[in-house]
Amino acid sequence: MAAPGSEAEAAMAGPEELVCAGGRNRKAVLCQRCSSRVLLPGAAVFARKELFLPAMKKKTALAGGCDPEGDILQDHWLVDDMFSFENVGFTKDVGNIKFLICADCEVGPIGWHCLDDKKSFYVALDRVSHE
Ligand SMILES: [Zn+2]
Repeated sequence: MAAPGSEAEAAMAGPEELVCAGGRNRKAVLCQRCSSRVLLPGAAVFARKELFLPAMKKKTALAGGCDPEGDILQDHWLVDDMFSFENVGFTKDVGNIKFLICADCEVGPIGWHCLDDKKSFYVALDRVSHE
């Protein structure tokens, strides 16, 4: 029988090529579509949290609301201050949630923010490029 816990421990470490020893982003975070710079290296900390993000599309389509299609994403960059972003846009509130989008091409969501917690901005690793 495999030791329980060993797998969970490995999962907590995060992707090593992207996360430095201090748990911060080793590389700059960019928009996948237009390479607009979202975060500078070291601006965010790696955080694991299950969040639902709708499928990627243009902002206009996102505003349409209740679209059930999307992904549960677990690996995120956590930023506690909006001014830590180089560039970022937001969708209109969906309930008490705002989704983060690219400030230049407005594709998203690349991340998630709850209005109840003004110090938590999540950017999904799977929805951005790293350089
Ligand atoms: Zn973009």
